[in-house]
Amino acid sequence: MLHGLIGQIDGPIPVAEIARALDIVEVRECPLDGCEGVLITDRQRSRGSILVNNKRGAQAARFSIAHELGHFLLERHVLGLADGMVCTKNDMRESRTMRQQMQRHRKQEVEANEFAIGLLVPDYAMAPTLRSDPAIQAITLMKDKLDISLEASTRCLVERHDEPLAAVWARDGLIRYVVRGPRFPWITWKQGQRLPDLSRTPRYLASGRVGVSAMSEVAPAAWTHHELPELFEQVRIGKDGHSLTLLWATLPEAEDEEE
Ligand SMILES: [Zn+2]
Repeated sequence: MLHGLIGQIDGPIPVAEIARALDIVEVRECPLDGCEGVLITDRQRSRGSILVNNKRGAQAARFSIAHELGHFLLERHVLGLADGMVCTKNDMRESRTMRQQMQRHRKQEVEANEFAIGLLVPDYAMAPTLRSDPAIQAITLMKDKLDISLEASTRCLVERHDEPLAAVWARDGLIRYVVRGPRFPWITWKQGQRLPDLSRTPRYLASGRVGVSAMSEVAPAAWTHHELPELFEQVRIGKDGHSLTLLWATLPEAEDEEE
């Protein structure tokens, strides 16, 4: 998409400059409450302004700029402000219409997020990472190189790597959420559930040290009911009880050949 026009950039994608070159006349970062980004534009989208929250840090602000730029450039996107208004006014009145609006809204948000990731993490920048073995070190390197959040970087690795991967975010040993790559078998989890006892993560957490573990074998039963020849787990313990667990599965051979 845009990368064909921009050309290859070594380092973080200058998202605000790109927005300005595409008729966003103003990009402003400031503390916002209750929302992450606002796009103000006219019906024809001849020009626009983007306002983003900077309370969650520079990387989150960069993502929000890219997200709002996505709404601006994706032509079928119905303007958010008008959307929101219709939703509240018609609340409880026409449930079917409302549901359609909600679905459209959610779809647009997903599309804007995909646009943002595609812009901030170009394929050419990820290629070397995707050619090597998956590891948390590669995620951190990519995060620093592209100036994106650890979460965005992890998501890109898990979703685009050929190996079957999953990532688990937890705080104080309680699972916050999970991202599963297209080839990873089903993983059993619920939000707020305690990390499985068989996992290596609780042991690293208990040690109280911040850092990244080695990638080592773990019982597949810790994470899935599928029978796997092998499962590997690597752990990053962050500050304030945050942990990131990277899971790398070996699939049974028949399944491997099928794909
Ligand atoms: Zn949005």
